[in-house]
Amino acid sequence: SRSLARGPELFQPERANSEGFDLTDRPTIERVESARAPFESTIWKARPLLAVEAPAGTTEDVLDPATLAKTGEITWASAETVAAAAGAAQPWAATPQERAAILNKAADLYEANFGEFFALLAREAGKTQLDAVAELREAVDFLRYYAARTEGAAPQGVFACISPWNFPLAIFTGQLSAALAAGNAVLAKPAEQTSLIAFRAVELLHEAGVPASALQLLPGAGDVGAALTSNPAVKGVAFTGSTETAQIIHRSIAKHLAPGTPFIAETGGLNAMIVDSTALPEQAVRAIVESAFQSAGQRCSALRCLYVQEDIAPHFTEMLKGAMDVLKPGTPWHLSTDLGPVIDAEAKEGIARHVETARAEGRLMHEIAIPAEGHFVAPTLIKVGGIDDLEREIFGPVLHLATFKSSELDAVIDAINARGYGLTFGLQTRIDDRVQHVTERVHAGNIYVNRNQIGAIVGSQPFGGEGLSGTGPKAGGPLYVDRFRAHPAPQDGT
Ligand code: GLU
Repeated sequence: SRSLARGPELFQPERANSEGFDLTDRPTIERVESARAPFESTIWKARPLLAVEAPAGTTEDVLDPATLAKTGEITWASAETVAAAAGAAQPWAATPQERAAILNKAADLYEANFGEFFALLAREAGKTQLDAVAELREAVDFLRYYAARTEGAAPQGVFACISPWNFPLAIFTGQLSAALAAGNAVLAKPAEQTSLIAFRAVELLHEAGVPASALQLLPGAGDVGAALTSNPAVKGVAFTGSTETAQIIHRSIAKHLAPGTPFIAETGGLNAMIVDSTALPEQAVRAIVESAFQSAGQRCSALRCLYVQEDIAPHFTEMLKGAMDVLKPGTPWHLSTDLGPVIDAEAKEGIARHVETARAEGRLMHEIAIPAEGHFVAPTLIKVGGIDDLEREIFGPVLHLATFKSSELDAVIDAINARGYGLTFGLQTRIDDRVQHVTERVHAGNIYVNRNQIGAIVGSQPFGGEGLSGTGPKAGGPLYVDRFRAHPAPQDGT
């Protein structure tokens, strides 16, 4: 991946990312608020979007994770719906130029519907409006970036795209637009927690001109995913989610699908940051708070384990606690909210169990107050025993802290690498040689120096990991679309 960063394709002066919205600008805030206002109490409805008549499953209410008020209703797909959709799927006949034009049109439609998306992202996914702005931008960027890569070898055929709730618009759109750019037919299964957003996105993609037989939506849970990854019509699978689920899918592909079926997985991480005694403390604290607590820690890129050099730890930890204290948790609909809820009751309970264990063991260093109603989890700082003492990814606003002596720097790097994940990594130091020493040794797909370690930008920072964190190729990078073709170009695996 390092050689890629120097590759000619990343230097594209003609390429532009979506403009986004500046939420510090008063007229922009007014524009956002008036565009969202009509959707403040909308009850959205979602259902399978198919190219054929097929039986659907049951219907369920969707609740806002912050207020627990009703946001919409979903009619689920069933295993029979999946079979019917797979039978009706057709790689599209359009030329590469036509596909590009349609994906670019979809990007324009996404941007035109920003008010509804910001409302949905708050009310279905619990996203703060700062996160919602970034998410819409990323989705639009994916559409345009992959639209520029429609030329190439033939498609695989039918691709299953299984996406997560933490980026319900961006990752959902990224997977399917890459598959469509290559000319495949897509069977899209969004995470069950965020099917309303996916439904609106697919409606807009159809409106832009993607044929119904080239893009079908199958809202559902694990049973729908299992039906997809065992259907022989499926010639490739893209998945983003937990490492455990990726392993289940991998086994299903091996058992039911053709040998060599491409599997593109982006999974979890146990992401670390090292802060040495020369780091600029204000910069490091800000980067840590953003990396660990933005999106309520529900990013696979989020900082989970912070290593602070012992010499500065007491003072540095006090600064970090102070920065946590000024975070503002609350309903994501309000633009002043820094920290929304986690996605659902199950997520909240799982994180709470981890925090309660740490509390019982006397390792809880700091937490802040949160709203009593809704699926909120307090931003929390937990002390870990030793430098190699962090077991598993906790997908929420929980940061683990370990200290190290200057002689232990390489032992810290070894402990990070020994976990087998390799997604993001952060380093805060003012020693140039150390930047080189550390970044050459740490195994991670995305390495960030003296800044936060979340929020990769399409086309500038292709995103993806190695080891237990994913298969590559990186999303938002020049090699991604090729993996959705029958004869992909050679690639470096990340
Ligand atoms: N691309 C996102 C970032 O850089 C993370 C994606 C994920 O959580 O799956 O923060």
